[in-house]
Amino acid sequence: MMDTKSSALHEKEGVSAPETTSKASAEKIKLSRGKQKSVDEFVAGILRGNITYLSKAITLVESTNIKHLKKANEILDRCLPHANNSVRIGITGVPGVGKSTFIETFGKHLTSQGKKIAVLAVDPSSSVNKGSILGDKTRMEELVTDQKAFIRPSPSGTSLGGVAQKTRESIVLCEAAGFDTIIIETVGVGQSETVVHSMVDFFLLLKLAGAGDELQGIKRGIIEMADAIVINKADGENKQSAKIAKIEFNRALHLYPLKESKWQPKVLTASALHNSGIKKIDTMILEYLSLTKENTYFNQKRNEQNKFWLLSTIEQQLKANFYQNPKVKKALQEEIDHLENGKTTPFNAAKRLLNL
Ligand code: GDP
Repeated sequence: MMDTKSSALHEKEGVSAPETTSKASAEKIKLSRGKQKSVDEFVAGILRGNITYLSKAITLVESTNIKHLKKANEILDRCLPHANNSVRIGITGVPGVGKSTFIETFGKHLTSQGKKIAVLAVDPSSSVNKGSILGDKTRMEELVTDQKAFIRPSPSGTSLGGVAQKTRESIVLCEAAGFDTIIIETVGVGQSETVVHSMVDFFLLLKLAGAGDELQGIKRGIIEMADAIVINKADGENKQSAKIAKIEFNRALHLYPLKESKWQPKVLTASALHNSGIKKIDTMILEYLSLTKENTYFNQKRNEQNKFWLLSTIEQQLKANFYQNPKVKKALQEEIDHLENGKTTPFNAAKRLLNL
């Protein structure tokens, strides 16, 4: 279920299409009213950059209906050879740091350069509140109506792994639809950064200066993952403290061993609100791409990510098959009862259930 704000966003998605002619809107009406579209129609629609087909295919990917998922998999298989030609950028930071403002400004900058950007999200909390971090992106107002941008709220789901898998599959569809820059937003408060890190080429951490605890308040793991730290809100009274924070972060980053990518993570300051420092971030990402493509780390990382997703998909599927098995469902309750009555041990119970 999506809240009204995100459905409004979806409405707009149909408008912000690379294929924006009246032909596209006629197609949109046909799509929503007509009979079920075939896999062939979906694939052809996506490959010519039709946003309505793309949105509907993502809806199939996000569905829990087995038939929808089967169709989604067929579409994904056919889109896969047309995917991969993009740069995938992960953006994380605590709520209020300015992620949506930054994505709006950075996204506008990219589209003004002729880039086509898709903004996706991994928000594990969306399964709880049925909303999503992109659900009320009033600050992405301009980007939402930009014809070179596609914005999609986080799928909801019961597990972070499940949510992330759907986002990863959506990346494939967006790339096949011709989006050359994929931005994945996530809230920097839990495990989701690690998951997003495993699906992007470049990982950008947004920070604020001036709290006085720049280094203490940050998880070591996230610093290690970051290819860049951008100190946002470097404007007005914050300018000076942003400069100081930049020096501190730079010093801290230099204490880490050089990454496998051979990229020395950078610290930059920016003001998403006042559109300053944005071009430098774009240039930095281009430098990163040029370095890692030349030293082949770019492909190596994507291959490793593919392996990771293969294994994690198997794990999820095995788990789902196990727990959905009616025999297991029944026996699980019995074993829990036996456990409570001291008639079995967790290990014996697990063994019996796994051998069903
Ligand atoms: P998110 O929760 O990380 O997505 O943060 P938002 O983009 O919603 O921004 C939170 C608040 O910070 C909003 O009131 C923004 O207007 C403000 N903000 C975002 N970027 C900047 C900036 O560069 N400078 C200043 N001064 N305020 C900003």
